[in-house]
Amino acid sequence: MDIFENIIDGGKCSKYKTNHFHMFVDDDVCIPDVQNMSDSAFGTLMHEYVHYVQHLTTLFGIRMCDMFHRMSIMYREYMSKEHIIHLPLHLWEKDEHLSQFLTHFKNVSGSKHCNFNIDAVDVNETNIDIARKNKTAVTIGCYDFENNRIYENGFDFGYVCVMESMAHEIQKTLVSDVFHPEVPYCTAELILKEYYPEILDDRKLIASICYCALHWDNPGVGFFDVVNLAKSNPSWNGIELYKHIAQNFAVSCNGKKMPRYRLILLFLDDFKKNLEQVIGTDLDYYKSVINNCIKETCGSTSKLLDVLYNVPSDDKKTLFSSLADFYGYPVIDAKNYTILPRNMVEAEGKPYLETAVLYWLGINIGKTFGIRW
Ligand SMILES: [Zn+2]
Repeated sequence: MDIFENIIDGGKCSKYKTNHFHMFVDDDVCIPDVQNMSDSAFGTLMHEYVHYVQHLTTLFGIRMCDMFHRMSIMYREYMSKEHIIHLPLHLWEKDEHLSQFLTHFKNVSGSKHCNFNIDAVDVNETNIDIARKNKTAVTIGCYDFENNRIYENGFDFGYVCVMESMAHEIQKTLVSDVFHPEVPYCTAELILKEYYPEILDDRKLIASICYCALHWDNPGVGFFDVVNLAKSNPSWNGIELYKHIAQNFAVSCNGKKMPRYRLILLFLDDFKKNLEQVIGTDLDYYKSVINNCIKETCGSTSKLLDVLYNVPSDDKKTLFSSLADFYGYPVIDAKNYTILPRNMVEAEGKPYLETAVLYWLGINIGKTFGIRW
């Protein structure tokens, strides 16, 4: 099972452990004085931080983290009853809801890498229709001009490509020389070169399109829906695009149709309750973080896009503090030190209880689930 597999960023080992608010930065960080960080280290930090935000604020991300919380609860209950436990456990196989989600997740995740050179891609509308119908990632054809090769089934454009393209595009607005493998990081760019080349230089809009697509239960297909909406409304920036989708795109859940933002609220509510159950205590720090996410959802706005568009990309301090003051941050394991959110007001700078518990869970739970961390 690779649902919660690490995302390895190129040659580096930076990664975000989605489900337990724990990220790794393979560089030295300086928080909160991020202005003292090198451009490259700051770009890496922001890349991982974007994953953290995307998992707290998009329909696909919230659902995925919530499923992990449900799984944690299920495993804990099982372990409290059994005397002998043989690891790893595969309890999700016995839960219909979880196994359905995991099958869906696997089908829409798409490719994480590819082993040939890609110079250009071919987007076939029929493949988009097939992916929509079958609830899978979208198969993309590839050309390797260098070696004179054509790959009809080059790679599958899905959740992984969309979320890594988003983080990559935002990183590129901060640091120009970021080199990542084409799949998954440059796939949005490769597709847009063919599908909507007019916006190829607009990294902020490309990142916004990916962000919007993460509100689809099949982000690979969602990406094309959002691009088509952007094509029909070329004057919109990412903020306008996002607002329109949150308010006017209906989504159905358990047979009920509702605007997308309402479903985010329902998901966030489940997320909060299950997270509390996982850590066995009321939330403190992340309660205010989730409340901020609820606030922005109600207004169909996004602090992330607001900062992306309105804070100069060389103002590291304002960029990071505007986001961290709103979304908080996870445990950050960097080369030089580990940072845990601390309660400066009521506990003399000691870490929040919930952060310490989540940190511990992040270390131990992977072994129990049988997940490759
Ligand atoms: Zn990444």
